[in-house]
Amino acid sequence: MPAMPTLIDGTKVAKELLESTRLRVQALTSGSSVVPCLATVLVGSDPASVTYTRMKRKRCESIGMRSIKVELPESTTTEQLVAEIRRLGDDPTVHGILLQHPAPSHVDERAAFEAIPAIKDVDGVTYAAFANQWFNEGGHESCTPSGIVKLLDAYDARIEGAHAVVVGRSPILGKPMAGLLLARNATVTICHSRTQGLADIVRQADIVVAAVGKARFVQGDWVKRGAIVMDAGYNEGNVGDVDFDPAAERASMITPVPGGVGPMTIATLIAQTVDAAERLTAQ
Ligand code: NAP
Repeated sequence: MPAMPTLIDGTKVAKELLESTRLRVQALTSGSSVVPCLATVLVGSDPASVTYTRMKRKRCESIGMRSIKVELPESTTTEQLVAEIRRLGDDPTVHGILLQHPAPSHVDERAAFEAIPAIKDVDGVTYAAFANQWFNEGGHESCTPSGIVKLLDAYDARIEGAHAVVVGRSPILGKPMAGLLLARNATVTICHSRTQGLADIVRQADIVVAAVGKARFVQGDWVKRGAIVMDAGYNEGNVGDVDFDPAAERASMITPVPGGVGPMTIATLIAQTVDAAERLTAQ
C-alpha cells in the first residue's frame, strides 16, 4: 500500500487567515473608526463572475468589513470603466478595488487594471504589482499565487532550494507564481503550451504547481515520489488540473479540489484589502 500523502487543507488555512484578518479589522475599526472596504467591479452579467464577486463581498462582510458592489452593463466602454475605477480610486472610504476578470472582449482590460491605484490594487493585477513580485519589493501580490505560498508555509514545505515546476504562464497565475517562488529561492521552471517534454520536466519537480485550466491534465506518473503538488485548476464539475488519485499515490503533500488553493485566493484578497486600509489610515 502506498503511503497516503498529507492533504493540504486550504479551507482550514483560509479560515485561520480570515480569523486573524477579522482581528485586524476589529483593531482598525475600534482604533480609528475606519472600516476596511473592498469594491468589486463587474462588467456584464457572466453567471460565474456574478457568483465570484458575491462570494468575495460576503466573505468581507462576515469579518466586519464593508463592501461595495459596482455592476456595469455589458455595453460599458473602456473609458466609462476607467472613469468608474478612478472614482473608486479617489474615494477615501474604499481601500481595495477588484475588477472581476474577464471583462468583455471589447474592453481594454489592461487599461482598466492600470487605472487602479497601486495601494488599492489588492488583487495584484497592475504592472506595478507584477514588477514588485519579480523584484521582491513588497506590495500586494497576485492572490492565487500568494495563497499557494501561504499554504506551502502553513505546511512547512521547503521552498528554498527546491525545484519548482509551474505549468502555466498566465499573467494572473503562472507568471506571478514563478516570481514568488523565485523570491523564496526556489529554482523555478515555467512550462506552457509550447513546452517540449513536459512530463519529464514535471518528473524533476520537488514542487509542482498546476495552472493550466484543463481537467486532470497533470498525470499521476508525472509526479516524482515525495513531490508536493499544488493544484490551482478549477474546471467544470469541481475538477482540478491534476489527476488527483494517481498523483496522490506518489506525492508527499497535495491540495484537493475543491478545498485546496481556491479558498486561499479569497482569504488573501481580503487580507490584502485590510493591509491597504491599514496603510492608507497610517498615511
Ligand atoms: P489561462 O489564462 O488559460 O492560462 C493557462 C496556461 O496554461 C497558459 O499559460 C497555457 O500556455 C498553459 N497551457 C495550456 N495548455 C497547455 C499544455 N498542453 N501544456 C502546458 N501548458 C499549457 O488560465 P489561468 O487563468 O492561469 O487559470 C488556470 C487554472 O487555474 C484554471 O483552471 C482556472 O480556473 C484556475 N484558477 C483558479 C483560481 C483559484 O482561485 N483557485 C484563480 C484563478 C484561476 P500558453 O501561455 O502557451 O497558452
